[in-house]
Amino acid sequence: MGRPKRRPRRATTAVILTIIYKSDGTIVNLDRDRLVYRAEGNANLVLAIPDLSQVLRLRKSSLNTDLQSTSIDHVIMVTEYGRIVSSLFPKVFTIESKLVLLKVPNYDTLNKWLNQFRPSVIGETYCVEIKPKQGWIFPESTLMALYPESDGKLCRFCAMQYLKLVKKTIKRVSNYCPIDLFSGDRNRMLKALNGLVETPQNNFRMWRSGQLIYGDGIDQGFKDALQDTMHQDDVSKNLQNFLLLLLKAILKDYTGENVPNGNESLPHGSILKQILDVQLFARDNLANAADKALNEEQSFGNVERILAKRRDNTEDWLERMDGVEKYFLGATALDCSLMMTFQKIAEGSTNERHTIDVDGEKFIVSMTVMDLDPKADSHPIKYVKQTKMSYKAHRDFVANSTIS
Ligand SMILES: [Zn+2]
Repeated sequence: MGRPKRRPRRATTAVILTIIYKSDGTIVNLDRDRLVYRAEGNANLVLAIPDLSQVLRLRKSSLNTDLQSTSIDHVIMVTEYGRIVSSLFPKVFTIESKLVLLKVPNYDTLNKWLNQFRPSVIGETYCVEIKPKQGWIFPESTLMALYPESDGKLCRFCAMQYLKLVKKTIKRVSNYCPIDLFSGDRNRMLKALNGLVETPQNNFRMWRSGQLIYGDGIDQGFKDALQDTMHQDDVSKNLQNFLLLLLKAILKDYTGENVPNGNESLPHGSILKQILDVQLFARDNLANAADKALNEEQSFGNVERILAKRRDNTEDWLERMDGVEKYFLGATALDCSLMMTFQKIAEGSTNERHTIDVDGEKFIVSMTVMDLDPKADSHPIKYVKQTKMSYKAHRDFVANSTIS
């Protein structure tokens, strides 16, 4: 007679989250070791599940929020809208968003865990987020109509820096300018990328295996990460090569549809060009949208109309959008992020379309457009108001510095 079989010992980390996929009913139980805290903004908290190559985006609400007010209808709208805007980009740049049901067996356990952001030990994958912001300058006609007193030399992002200085949300103006990043001129683009690294604000973040190591006021091993990936004896060369990797990644034509067309302009299939193209809907329809805008913080009438038109027309839905609706699509792209995930690979491995060479090192890279969120009906009014205040803040700044 053998000894009674011992029951397998319970895993030390219990399930803290269960995901139920609404599309096919699949259930996935997750313990802490499979979850990685990634980031959080004002509206969302993001957890990664590395072994499923998925991220969980949890919508935040304040303690006093009436739970009824964040209705399921709104969540469905955000998800559907995200899918629609995604379809404006080549498939290679987007991830499919799905609505899932979450079960939390014990909120205390989950909260305790979230509060300490436990490090995870899974192979080194690096992720860089760039929030490029508005990559175009105001046309003369828009300036005359909306900001006649501005000299028009500064782009909106750079002008906004002076408003943020006044509001004390930043200590110094950024070295980054989106117009340089979107210029297609390699030197100006490198200057912009360097500016992002020097003054990340909320426009640049880097993770190592899901752990935030740079950005949001954090610098925990950024230099080490560069050394790990770039392997140069000369330390200053690591940063230079890292910037070169970013440059090649954002200029690369991932759609495989186009031959790069020389310099001085963004290749058509590059992630930057794709983002810029959608952003231009906002530029070209701004005056129209500002004229007709409602100052409604919580209403999403414009987005609802986009969704309705999209449901009715599959083929030419974009052509059927009117100017105001196109503005709202463009406004979404003004705030989107590009996520670049890269991993170093051994020499000899090939995957032409997704590999990038920098100074003898090979990287496998993927690019994704993220944060494609719907904008409330008040967007055009707020946008114009903030722009005016920014140009005024800049004028005051210049005036003050010439006096003293
Ligand atoms: Zn600028």
